[in-house]
Amino acid sequence: MQQTLEDRFGRRFAYLRLSITDVCNFRCEYCLPDGYQGTPTGFLHQAEIERLIAAFAELGIRKLRITGGEPLVRKDAMDIIAMAGATPGIEQLALTTNAFNLAGKAEALRTGGLTAVNVSLDSLREEGFRRITGDRRHTRVLSGIDEAIAAGIPSVKINTVLLGGLNDHEIPDFMEYVRERPVAVRFIELMRTADNGDYFQQRHVSGATVARQLVDAGWQPKERGLTDGPAFEYTHPDYRGRIGLITPYAPNFCDGCNRLRVTARGGLRLCLFGNGTHDLRPLLQSDADRPELKRSICEALFQKSASHFLHQGDYGDTPHLASTGG
Ligand code: SAM
Ligand code: SF4
Repeated sequence: MQQTLEDRFGRRFAYLRLSITDVCNFRCEYCLPDGYQGTPTGFLHQAEIERLIAAFAELGIRKLRITGGEPLVRKDAMDIIAMAGATPGIEQLALTTNAFNLAGKAEALRTGGLTAVNVSLDSLREEGFRRITGDRRHTRVLSGIDEAIAAGIPSVKINTVLLGGLNDHEIPDFMEYVRERPVAVRFIELMRTADNGDYFQQRHVSGATVARQLVDAGWQPKERGLTDGPAFEYTHPDYRGRIGLITPYAPNFCDGCNRLRVTARGGLRLCLFGNGTHDLRPLLQSDADRPELKRSICEALFQKSASHFLHQGDYGDTPHLASTGG
C-alpha cells in the first residue's frame, strides 16, 4: 500500500538524502580543512542500505540522493547506485560528488539509473580550486562535468559555496560557464556548523549580492514548481544554463522542507541543523523487521521541528556537512 510521510506541520517527505560514507579525499576549507579525521569504518553495508531504501520507498520516498563524505571513494558506490536505481518506487536517483572520480564513470552512472548529478565546484580557476579544496584535480573535475552532460544524465548541477574574497568575484565567470552548457550553477550561502565558526565569520556572504548581479545582467527569476528544491533559479534568453541561489538564512526557508537524511551509519537525521539522530541500524538486519523499521521512521518524523534555529545562533550538533550528508 502506498504511504506518505508527513510531519506535524503538514509537510510531506518524498526526498531522502543518504550518506554512504563520511570519508572524503578533499579538504574544503569550510568543511574538512584538516582532511578527514574520523575512523573510516562502520558504514552501512550494501544489504543494510538495500533494506533501508526499500523501506523508505514503501513509505513514499520517490527521490533519493546518494551523498557523503565523498560517495565515490566507496569501492562499491557504483553497485549501490545501480541497486538504488532498480528499487521499485525510486523515480529520481541523484548523486552529490566532488567529481574527483566522475570522469570515465558518467555513462555507467546513467545506465545504472542515475537521473541527476550535483557536482561541487567552488572555483573555475585552477588556483582558486586548489586553495579552497586542497586538491589539484581541477581539470579532471571539469572533464567529469562535461562527460556527465555528454552522457545524457538528465540533470547536471553545480554547487558553488559562496565565499567572500575567495570566489565571489567569479560570478560573471560562472555566468559565462553556463552560456553554452545546459547546467544549473547554484550558489549556496556558507552555512555555520559546529566546527567552522571563525571561517563563517570571515567568509560568509549573503546570496543577495549574487541576486543583484544577476538582475543587473538581465537574468529573470524563474517561477517555482511545486516539487522544486531549495534553490531560487534565474534564467536568461542568451544562456543555455541557469543560475540559482540557496539561502538557508532566508525567512521561511524551512516551510518548504521536503527532505530527510540518513547518515552513513544509519542514523535518521530530521534536520541538517538539528541535534542527534534516530538509530535505524538495529532494524536493518533482517527483512522481517521492515514493518517495525517503517513504524520507527514515522514515529521519529513526528519529532521534526518547524524550523532550524540558526537565527538564534543554534546550528545543532553537526560538526561539518561531511558528517551528515550535506
Ligand atoms: N563530497 C561531496 C561534495 O562535496 O559534493 C558530497 C558531500 S558535501 C558535504 C555536499 C555539499 O555540501 C557540497 O556541495 C558542499 O560544497 C556543501 N557544503 C559543505 N559544507 C558546507 C557549508 N558549511 N556551507 C554550505 N555548503 C556546504
Ligand atoms: Fe569533501 Fe564535499 Fe566536504 Fe569538500 S564539501 S570536504 S568534497 S565532503
